[in-house]
Amino acid sequence: MIKVRFAPSPTGRLHLGSARTALFNWLFARGQGGKVVLRIEDTDPARSSREHEESILEDLRWLGLDWDEGPDVGGPCGPYRQSERGGIYREHASRLLDSGKAYPCYCTPDELEEGKRRALAEGRTPVYGGACRNLSPRERREREAEGRKPALRFRVPEGEVAFQDLLHGYVRFPPGAVGDFIILRSDGSAGFNFSVVVDDAVMGITHVIRGEDHLANTARHVLLFDALGYQPPLYLHHSLLLGPDGSKMSKRHGATTVREYREAGYLPTALANYLATLSWSPPEGREVLALDELVRLFDIGDLSSSPTVFDRARLDWLNGKHLRRLDKDELFALAAEFAPGWARHPRFPLMVESVLDNLTTLSELPRYLEPYGEPVTPTETAAEWLHGEAARRILEKALELVESTPLVSLDGCREVIGSLKQAFVDRDIKAKEILMPLRVALTGREHGPPLPHLLFVLGAKECAARIRAALAGEAGKPARPL
Ligand code: GLU
Repeated sequence: MIKVRFAPSPTGRLHLGSARTALFNWLFARGQGGKVVLRIEDTDPARSSREHEESILEDLRWLGLDWDEGPDVGGPCGPYRQSERGGIYREHASRLLDSGKAYPCYCTPDELEEGKRRALAEGRTPVYGGACRNLSPRERREREAEGRKPALRFRVPEGEVAFQDLLHGYVRFPPGAVGDFIILRSDGSAGFNFSVVVDDAVMGITHVIRGEDHLANTARHVLLFDALGYQPPLYLHHSLLLGPDGSKMSKRHGATTVREYREAGYLPTALANYLATLSWSPPEGREVLALDELVRLFDIGDLSSSPTVFDRARLDWLNGKHLRRLDKDELFALAAEFAPGWARHPRFPLMVESVLDNLTTLSELPRYLEPYGEPVTPTETAAEWLHGEAARRILEKALELVESTPLVSLDGCREVIGSLKQAFVDRDIKAKEILMPLRVALTGREHGPPLPHLLFVLGAKECAARIRAALAGEAGKPARPL
């Protein structure tokens, strides 16, 4: 049975890159009928918090992901927060200590820093120099007598470290590239690499899918698996998400967290669709995909190892597509959230639908709905449409039409616009020249929703009043508060 994990560190909001990793794991597991574990990697107490954990879980759920085991749902391999698994790590560490595969290290942070500095100055890889590697029992006792509390360090075997990666093939680290590393800190807490390996082992994780930035950690992980006598999982290190300038996606490239996109009016299905197709190409012509379609089509074997550059324009395009695919009730509920000032309008659904084709994100909705509100004083260019004899005749005709039609159905309003065009069609005027004076008279603007929708929402009386005002050279003044 395939079993994967998401292993977020709760040190901030869910980053797009981590969401992408979670998504790859989830799509792979769900596509194969496998299980998903959510594990909180909160071994850094100074940077981790419960608030961050909750916000990450909320954002993962918002994206549509779920898990079979985790801190919120429980499961047979709990607890699912690393901060609560100290006993399991210490027990595993003792096994390594007892078999000589780990040793106590008494070096102080200053001594370690000095060793690193020297290695760098001499052009060597800054790995642990091995000062405590072969201490005799007497030397250990001496250090302990000085009051030094040891950390526990893993004794890295001599030679090359290599492992198979499902995307990169055979990955090799030359002898000396991996130095002895800490598995238990002097305060008894587990080091990052050690807790990850113990958990992946005892939780029965079969596939570890994570970013390329973990490749060097994986070298340590396979050594630990071997030392502990566990079978390592299969690894796949996917490419990292880069900003448009080619550096790792970060704050200076703009919004980087899932929450920011959620609040900016992006849909979870669009964001998931976007993130999943960043280094995986769906079959020709199937770009716009809901989560269940992604599960069906996604193939982890088709991931590309090339760098992945974040492309906001493509995300916007996908979001527009997903918005237009939304179930209507869901669309109107979300629209009400993003345009609360309009939501109580009796024609709200019709208004939303009238601008749907223009929308990229839901947060643009209030701006697109503005023409349904108070008219504005036209700019000089917009006012041009109201000048001249032709404009006057068009507006007079429009006035006559709206005064003689009740405008109680959208079709009725379409007919009004049709009749207006019809009335001038023989006079060699373009449709735009017929309709612009009316649009500017009604809203003061040159752009906005379709005219039939405007007529319908504003109603006959208000339309007549605004056209009259425009004819009197007073466009932009509302006849009555809306
Ligand atoms: N907790 C790690 C992170 O947030 C992930 C570790 C892993 O996937 O092995 O980067």
